[in-house]
Amino acid sequence: LFQVNGHNPRSDGQAREYLREDLQEFLDGEVLLFQLDDLTRVNPVTLETVLRCLQARYMADRFYTNAGCTLVALNPFKPIPQLYSPELMREYHAAPQPQKLKPHVFTVGEQTYRNVKSLIEPVNQSIVVSGESGAGKTWTSRCLMKFYAVVAASPASWETHKIAERIEQRILNSNPVMEAFGNACTLRNNNSSRFGKFIQLQLNRAQQMTGAAVQTYLLEKTRVACQASSERNFHIFYQICKGASEDERLQWHLPEGAAFSWLPNPERSLEEDCFEVTREAMLHLGIDTPTQNNIFKVLAGLLHLGNIQFAASEDEAQPCQPMDDAKCSVRTASLLLGLPEDVLLETVQIRTIRAGRQQQVFRKPCPRAECDTRRDCLAKLIYARLFDWLVSVINSSICADTDSWTTFIGLLDVYGFESFPDNSLEQLCINYANEKLQQHFVAHYLRAQQEEYAVEGLEWSFVNYQDNQACLDLIEGSPISICSLINEECRLNRPSSAAQLQTRIETALAGSPCLGHNKLSREPSFIVVHYAGPVRYHTAGLVEKNKDPVPPELTRLLQQSQDPLLMGLFPTNPKEKTQEEPSGQSRNPVLTVVSKFKASLEQLLQVLHSTTPHYIRCIKPNSQGQAQTFVQEEVINTGPKLISHQNFVERYKLLRRLRPHTSSGPHSPHPAKGLPEWCPHSEEAMLEPLIQDILHTLPVLTQAAATP
Ligand code: ATP
Ligand code: MG
Repeated sequence: LFQVNGHNPRSDGQAREYLREDLQEFLDGEVLLFQLDDLTRVNPVTLETVLRCLQARYMADRFYTNAGCTLVALNPFKPIPQLYSPELMREYHAAPQPQKLKPHVFTVGEQTYRNVKSLIEPVNQSIVVSGESGAGKTWTSRCLMKFYAVVAASPASWETHKIAERIEQRILNSNPVMEAFGNACTLRNNNSSRFGKFIQLQLNRAQQMTGAAVQTYLLEKTRVACQASSERNFHIFYQICKGASEDERLQWHLPEGAAFSWLPNPERSLEEDCFEVTREAMLHLGIDTPTQNNIFKVLAGLLHLGNIQFAASEDEAQPCQPMDDAKCSVRTASLLLGLPEDVLLETVQIRTIRAGRQQQVFRKPCPRAECDTRRDCLAKLIYARLFDWLVSVINSSICADTDSWTTFIGLLDVYGFESFPDNSLEQLCINYANEKLQQHFVAHYLRAQQEEYAVEGLEWSFVNYQDNQACLDLIEGSPISICSLINEECRLNRPSSAAQLQTRIETALAGSPCLGHNKLSREPSFIVVHYAGPVRYHTAGLVEKNKDPVPPELTRLLQQSQDPLLMGLFPTNPKEKTQEEPSGQSRNPVLTVVSKFKASLEQLLQVLHSTTPHYIRCIKPNSQGQAQTFVQEEVINTGPKLISHQNFVERYKLLRRLRPHTSSGPHSPHPAKGLPEWCPHSEEAMLEPLIQDILHTLPVLTQAAATP
């Protein structure tokens, strides 16, 4: 007799007696499933069995599972200190065959470490950590860094230094600092990285960690001045406001309870004590207290800058003035940023144009919206430079001399695939990076398989795998691609509408199998069919974002600052001219966001190609961040969301109740099969949100329908 489903045979007599075969089936099916350490061993390998296995393991607190050459890491959403203890790290490190132990991120860490150590030919290694937002990429990378800090610590460093000064500790200290300045609370993750990161852990001949170098990608700097509803600004702003002492509050003009428009949702207290941790870590990285205070003062200045609201000017020839209650913000912001108050205000209010042979200066008051844009641009400019500067300070503190390391292990933690109702240049860049990494993964995986078959002398025929080259050609190929077309618009610097850009892309790239059908779109956009699913990108604002224009007056303004930190960030005679020509006044080719990103991506891939890669795929078991909850649908839908027919009907059944407009006039767009025809104007306005929703969903549906 066995106890089944919680029924105790003795108390209720409900227990069933199992025949031996039944029992075996039962055990094979459910009980043993959680014991399978490798997903390639589930039989048969189907989406359903793989999910069931992962779910069974998740519920049994087994968060790591192998999947061939990849490690799947399920986010436990609960602290499990014993799973990451130094004792366990040493156990994996000391094991004769770590792969024989339970799957763990330490197995990957240790195997990678041993590969570097290979006496035959030391090879650089890399670990690519992927997954959607909140899946645990940053946690996993941090965990690997801690692992190497233990197993690859140099004995010399133990003897000669205090703990805090040891190089391993300094490297670990880079995490809280970079996360304070580069992470934020989003709808999907309370500690979401808003930049990509590649950290190279440098090892000497004795395989001891002697230093590290960090490379960052595409910080989401717009977050400084603009946060989506329910999201927040970078952590550091909240840390300052919550953690500053009385004295500092006075110095930085941050009275308790002050409201800042760039500091939404301050009530969530996620950063108690974090300010202390950030400061302590900065100190160990060599950023002394006066410099830190300078940084925090400038950041407080940005918060006050954000409170400068302008009133529209009735006379176009007159500059917009700050609203009454914003006047004091102008004063405080200029004080904290070390700028003359009148010059700060004037630079935001008035555009200067140089023209003619003599480069005469014309001054034009900006309309209110442009004043706002210039104010935001100023904040983004300061924050982005500050972030880059911090990264360079961190690097100079942790990077080893070139002759003191011979090999490295690279850890890559980049944002996963993104698809929102409104996708723009940021998503295009992120998804482009993911396509590149996917290609790298597939190529490596197949190569590894083929090598294995060859070694074993197996006869095999080449499998036609899912190649995403066509998608990459569409995005970055030459001579014509989405990137090249967007860049061309920037270079030609001609006024062109969002609709024109859409037409150009659709015409020039019509032959690409990865350019989705865009028939029903009302807003100018184009669809890219990525390996993870189709994504609609809106063309409005794309070219402008790609230029990322910084009015030269803003840089000149910051060069006048008397603040020591800003003087360093914006030197009067910069060695190299930074990109700041907004309107093609410069004859040099414009370095666009896309071209800079493409270049850094190519560099990254070159580094990855020169290493032996390892992959960790992080999975978010549910979107609520709850422990012990595994929602199969959410695990599958890590790419763009696929909507089932039933959900679709449920969501849009309201449309059925509305009387369809029967006659399609000569200008009315053709309705899609199964959808009501376009309604007259008044109803159309009412339906607009739903229609937009459908238009966004349709390409996904089409794709879903095409998928068996
Ligand atoms: P993003 O792309 O938004 O940066 P991410 O993949 O880096 O997301 P993380 O920040 O690493 O996600 O993880 C999200 C949260 O999940 C963490 O803050 C932590 O609370 C929890 N978490 C992740 N992995 C683990 C783990 N192994 N053990 C316990 N908690 C974890
Ligand atoms: Mg992260």
